[in-house]
Amino acid sequence: MTKAERIRQAIQQTKQRHKEQVPVVYELKVNLNSLSKADRKNLIALFSEAKWLYNHIVADIDNRLKYESYKLSEVEVKVGDKFETRPIINLSSQMKQSIVERIQRNLYALHSSKEKGNKVGALKFKREVNSIPLKQYGKTFKFTNEQKTKVKLQGFNKPIRVLGGHQIPEDAEIAKAELVRKASGIYLHVTCYIGKEDFLKVWQNRVNRKQIVKRREWKTFNQAAAIDFKPTGVVLSNGLKIEWKIEETPRLKRLQRTLSCKKKGSRNRQKVKQKVRKEYEHIVNVRQDVVNKVISLLYRYDTLIYQDDNIQAWHKGSFGKSIQTSAVGMIKRGLRDSLRVSTVLIDRFQPTTKTCSRCGNVQSLELSDRVYKCPACGSELDRDLNATYNMLKFVGLDRSEVKPVEHETAVKIFGANPKVLISFVQ
Ligand SMILES: [Zn+2]
Repeated sequence: MTKAERIRQAIQQTKQRHKEQVPVVYELKVNLNSLSKADRKNLIALFSEAKWLYNHIVADIDNRLKYESYKLSEVEVKVGDKFETRPIINLSSQMKQSIVERIQRNLYALHSSKEKGNKVGALKFKREVNSIPLKQYGKTFKFTNEQKTKVKLQGFNKPIRVLGGHQIPEDAEIAKAELVRKASGIYLHVTCYIGKEDFLKVWQNRVNRKQIVKRREWKTFNQAAAIDFKPTGVVLSNGLKIEWKIEETPRLKRLQRTLSCKKKGSRNRQKVKQKVRKEYEHIVNVRQDVVNKVISLLYRYDTLIYQDDNIQAWHKGSFGKSIQTSAVGMIKRGLRDSLRVSTVLIDRFQPTTKTCSRCGNVQSLELSDRVYKCPACGSELDRDLNATYNMLKFVGLDRSEVKPVEHETAVKIFGANPKVLISFVQ
């Protein structure tokens, strides 16, 4: 057999084996403190080198995108108006090769998008490369102990300590990994193949655990609710109002001020930038937590009725503002994609705000009018609550008062969260 045939056969066998297995990705965190100063520097340098290599090839893609690019040991980097030569020291040839392949894939995606009739430009330069593919377990990376707490990376002499390796089952087939940089640190995303039976067992255990928890805590409300989404919260037709405040923290503001007076390209600027990234990641996590909790409350209703309004239009203004409004989009997506509740969408042009929910009179409201005052029947009602009553009417449902169980559950879910305010409107 020739070498090419042997490789083909090996690939065939792997494919056959993977049919009986399930791919699972485990996230392990690199313990940067365990590294020597030099190793830590080299590990972080991988990401800059990857960016330089990527941009070097993209800059002259016709001549530079070729298989041998993995042999490059120096690249041109644009600094200001000039080009400087930078050495590629830490990236191994296999890492370089996967970066070349990544460019090829991106180019291919661009081409097929063009064929579909989309307007596409050339491949763009990257400001940052935050992940480095590690193909071939055993070559580019390898666990050196049974507990999977130490990883040997190609190009590094000493193994690197990682957290979380114990999650990987003993007989899992480790396929590939990706070195990922986030603001909170460097991670290793390891893709493993585990047997379908093993996977089902793991899965079943998880489900069982969840069901036990659910039986104890999961209370459903057996009723429908209409929801009025606002940029900073929701109002339900039973009067429950949930508002969130996910803002730029004072720390972020301070850091951004500091950043603006640091010299471009300086070491200090890099340090502050890293702190800013970490703070952003924190705020994003806070938002995810709020979103999960709101969805968890809404899931307890049988049916949810809401209007398909244009969130995009809210998306103007500061980062703080946009992160709040984007939470609304995430909640809506969560509801839409869920199989647990049924949702009724009301057309966005339906005048739910302008109509009196008691007599049907229609009048325009200013944004500042918080109360709907009806000149026809004399009723006075909170603006948002009036909108939800109209939604209920639209699908032929009656409104209902908030029940103790709904109140209790809401308090239980959001009680400890200082970013969320629960109140009742009447
Ligand atoms: Zn009226």
